Amino acid sequence: MNIYISGKELDFDYGLHSLGTSFSGSPDVSIEKGEGDGLNVFYGENEARFTMGEFTQTVKFDESDRREATNIIKAGAYKVLAAYYKKELPWGTLSGVRPTKIPMRMLNEGSTDDEIIKALKEVYLISDAKNELGLKVAKKEREILAPINVKEGYSLYIGIPFCPSTCAYCSFTSYPIGAMKNKVDDYISTLVYELSEVSKMFKDRTLQSIYIGGGTPTSISAEQLDKLLTAVDEYFDRKDVLEYTVEAGRPDSITREKLEVIKDHKVSRISVNPQTLNQKTLELIGRRHTVDQTIECFNMARDLGFNNINMDFIVGLPGETYEDLVYSMEEVKKLKPDNLTFHALAVKRAGRIRSIQREGATNEYEEKLLSSEITDKHMDLTELTAKEIGMEPYYLYRQQSMTGSFENVGYATEGNEGIYNILMMEEVQSIVACGAGTVTKRVFEDEHIERCDNVKDVGLYIEKIEEMLERKRELFSVT
Ligand code: SF4
Repeated sequence: MNIYISGKELDFDYGLHSLGTSFSGSPDVSIEKGEGDGLNVFYGENEARFTMGEFTQTVKFDESDRREATNIIKAGAYKVLAAYYKKELPWGTLSGVRPTKIPMRMLNEGSTDDEIIKALKEVYLISDAKNELGLKVAKKEREILAPINVKEGYSLYIGIPFCPSTCAYCSFTSYPIGAMKNKVDDYISTLVYELSEVSKMFKDRTLQSIYIGGGTPTSISAEQLDKLLTAVDEYFDRKDVLEYTVEAGRPDSITREKLEVIKDHKVSRISVNPQTLNQKTLELIGRRHTVDQTIECFNMARDLGFNNINMDFIVGLPGETYEDLVYSMEEVKKLKPDNLTFHALAVKRAGRIRSIQREGATNEYEEKLLSSEITDKHMDLTELTAKEIGMEPYYLYRQQSMTGSFENVGYATEGNEGIYNILMMEEVQSIVACGAGTVTKRVFEDEHIERCDNVKDVGLYIEKIEEMLERKRELFSVT
């Protein structure tokens, strides 16, 4: 769709663009000057008029209060778009990735539940169900973080940018391991070196959580994994670590030997990620593992004594019907994991699905990749499934380009919540990240945040490691 702006020169384009993509369901929203076929926005003196088709809305605001003006303008545009497209967005005008931040702030300021819900509904037009979910998660996060001195501590993220193959929706830093075989040993050696240098920078700080993600950490060999986990043991003091996660990830990369290595290094939480328990979908999206492999890996992990296992699912995968989701949910109930994370499919710029959307499907397979469906009914079913396993929601975030404008929700049984996930999402603690394509975040005393990146390319990461270490030293003011 197109958005046309006329009248006074005011810049509220970002908020309008995100509403345009959410309502039209396409990331291709252009903003142009003038008038035309699409959403027309006319800015007058402290007022704006929105028109689309037969629908019109005028709002008044005070230009000098930028924050409030943005909210009012977005609400005006929302009402016209909702009337035109005959639908509401579950999260209303809220476009940020952290919907719990507002209820969290209001809770900290002493607002009551009713005041929070009323404010979110009036200002952001959030649905009752999502308001309830956001508030519930914010309260759970507060409860989990309360006994932890997050300001004193820090978290460590380690990235393994390899996977057995590339999923059709992938937008992460991930390379098929088969094609990178001759670089993996050097990568691990460089990563171990980075960890040793980082441990020196943080020798006076308390490490509180460790997360090894990717990519797929278990796509490397058991020996390489052992070398990496041994380095973590050797360089970091783990006595205050509350949680140590290895995102084992794809079942086609997990072996008993690798799980034993992970167990030997006293990792407290792992993920076995099916995304779906429908075989036909796995084949369509390019995940070269079977449903049976997922179940086998899960049972193997349980046999080895892992008592905090997360399973990631994606709702709205290409070709999946509501009945397919029902099937996955019935199967996962039999497994009874300790954490469940439901992601609404996000079609990111870097993924294959996005490029097919852009260029058009050229065959039946590509057409199937473009079919995706998520409704409230799908999300309600995931919530009900988690509830039936005895889980409560404990973290929540949104991404750009999420199908149906929904959210990702983490559920857990009591005491098994992923602490790293909360720390990362609420941005209350510095996270030092090692490995290609990772982002280190420093949270300062006054709560402002600064970041530094590691390059994505594996070869460049190996070559330029000193430069990246220097950037970290600068960010954390370590000489
Ligand atoms: S497993 Fe995850 S990181 Fe690996 S290709 Fe699939 S989506 Fe990307």
